[in-house]
Amino acid sequence: MSSVRRKAYLEAMQIDTWRRRGSPSPSPVPAQLAPAVAQSADWAELERLVAGCRRCALCETRRHTVFGVGDRRASWFVVGEAPGAAEDRQGEPFVGRAGQLLNAMLRAIGLGRDQVFIANVLKCRPPNNRDPLAHEAAACLPYLEQQLALVEPRLVLVVGRIAAQNLLATDAPLARLRGRVHRRGDAGPPIVVTYHPAYLLRTPSDKRKAWEDLKFAREVAERG
Ligand code: URA
Repeated sequence: MSSVRRKAYLEAMQIDTWRRRGSPSPSPVPAQLAPAVAQSADWAELERLVAGCRRCALCETRRHTVFGVGDRRASWFVVGEAPGAAEDRQGEPFVGRAGQLLNAMLRAIGLGRDQVFIANVLKCRPPNNRDPLAHEAAACLPYLEQQLALVEPRLVLVVGRIAAQNLLATDAPLARLRGRVHRRGDAGPPIVVTYHPAYLLRTPSDKRKAWEDLKFAREVAERG
């Protein structure tokens, strides 16, 4: 067995491998070999797994993992795409300009940022904010799935095409995903899709349509 492969196995089993001080950090562990995200993981376990995650190469370039913030018993769970530069620096989702607009969108429907739970499909920033690669999203999605299972929200609001396509496993355009209720499996919470706030900053004329989406989401959440 090659030393690289042996190291991957040891890390997958969470066995520390010896490393000379100052030497580069261990390589990413292929997701199939990495520790599984147990469906029984509680918040503390999940936070520990995300903080130490090496399931894809984004672990090499991140400053901080971005776990998610907010009320862990929230009715609304907001899902974004991936951390940007500000989020990578601070370890918190949606803290940049797009985050300020997201806060304003939530306020418009009567929700404070601390009343919802906010997390991304990817927990690490892709270099230069490029779109997540399919294998990165696949490696990271189990964390989000477990967060959704722990929060048990009444409604999931997905912002942006990339997050929606990854969460719903579709390549449908955003226009086809807005304005209806989606579900993952039979028992999951209702999922409503709207524009990403970063897109709305570039295209303010679509804010009116985003407002329609938010009212629709509120209606779905109240319906239960
Ligand atoms: N965009 C996202 O999708 N998520 C963040 O956390 C920040 C910007």
